[in-house]
Amino acid sequence: MIRRLDISSLDVRALMSYDACTRCGECTETCPTGGEAQDVEMVTPRGKILRLRELYKAQYGLRARILGPKKISDAELKEFAARAYECTICGQCRTVCPSHLDTIEMWENMREFLVANSLGPLSAHEPIVKSIENYDNPWMQPRTQRSRWSKRLGEEARIGDSLKDDHEILYFVGCTAAYDPNIRPMAENTARVLTHAKVDFGTLGNEEGCCGSTMMRTGLSESAKAMVLRNIERFERASPSIIVTSCAGCYKTIRQDYPKYGKLPAPIVHVTEFALDLMNSGHISPIGRVDKTVSFHDPCHLGRHAGLYEQPRSILQSIPGVKLVEMHRNREDARCCGAGGGVKTAFPELATGISELRVADAESVGCEVLTTSCPFCYQSLKSAVSARGSNMEMVDLMEFLWNSVHAPR
Ligand code: SF4
Ligand code: SF4
Repeated sequence: MIRRLDISSLDVRALMSYDACTRCGECTETCPTGGEAQDVEMVTPRGKILRLRELYKAQYGLRARILGPKKISDAELKEFAARAYECTICGQCRTVCPSHLDTIEMWENMREFLVANSLGPLSAHEPIVKSIENYDNPWMQPRTQRSRWSKRLGEEARIGDSLKDDHEILYFVGCTAAYDPNIRPMAENTARVLTHAKVDFGTLGNEEGCCGSTMMRTGLSESAKAMVLRNIERFERASPSIIVTSCAGCYKTIRQDYPKYGKLPAPIVHVTEFALDLMNSGHISPIGRVDKTVSFHDPCHLGRHAGLYEQPRSILQSIPGVKLVEMHRNREDARCCGAGGGVKTAFPELATGISELRVADAESVGCEVLTTSCPFCYQSLKSAVSARGSNMEMVDLMEFLWNSVHAPR
């Protein structure tokens, strides 16, 4: 029996882009998963595009229309799906593609196509997907514990409840900073910095829901829709003038994906943008010296996806004593940390190998402290620092800023 692929989920724009690929191969060398960590053509952007084109043409091309669709075995389809998920959706290929193909859109659409054909997400993604569906977070943690991180801060942080009281700023914490004890300091230090700057802010407390990023990146955008609409309804109830988030993934998702589903009642900014404004308006001043050589790793979701490069660097440069050094690959060309797009969940060894390459990038420029502003990059790079036995410190940017802001004069 011929398995007929369902192509209804393939977006017309993406289909035109698959055809517009000239096979030049500019994208293969810098692809972290296909070109750098392993030399597998089908994982590279060009390889994935050509394979999808072959599959499509085998069943819907001119020859198929005259002679009938060609049989594609389940093994071939499974191989294609596995390779398509070996992509962090870092966007490096979009940056280098001379045909200006929006590969980020293409890969996400390719995954929607895999889901529509019961080929995705991969079985390794299932526990996370189930957890998001059942608990509204990927970490199988109860909803009632979401705001527990905020209870231990005492007077250092005054955090309001945006669903009960009026607060000008809504801090969207994100699942990882709320639940993961290793990442919780990201939320704590954000709350400390905001309090220190006398910002009137609150959170959605236990009612905050997963932003839906994991679902969208793994091709489950239909399932993400209800989550997005629930969060938008909460934003409307909170009615802030600005939504701030410290998570690069939440930032990208709320800023770029939410408007496809509904209208945001307020603009969303990343905490690095907000903190820099607080510094420029004199609400906070870094005073504590840090005599260290520091590098910033650009998270893909902040940098290539959203074009936010200079704010974190300006924050670091304003800290007395900091010597900011750039890794050879920075800003648009920054090497991905290896964690995104569900790669860390399904292919942990591949993700670890890429993180170690990034740590080596930082070591090669004499970096003593590696900073970033994304929970996933932080987690992956920190593990790679330990795995390599590196002397470098891994510090989240908000922790770095907080330590300087509240240092004794
Ligand atoms: S998004 Fe990144 S990992 Fe995926 S194909 Fe492009 S360069 Fe490779
Ligand atoms: S750089 Fe663009 S056009 Fe060239 S092979 Fe890659 S995706 Fe195709």
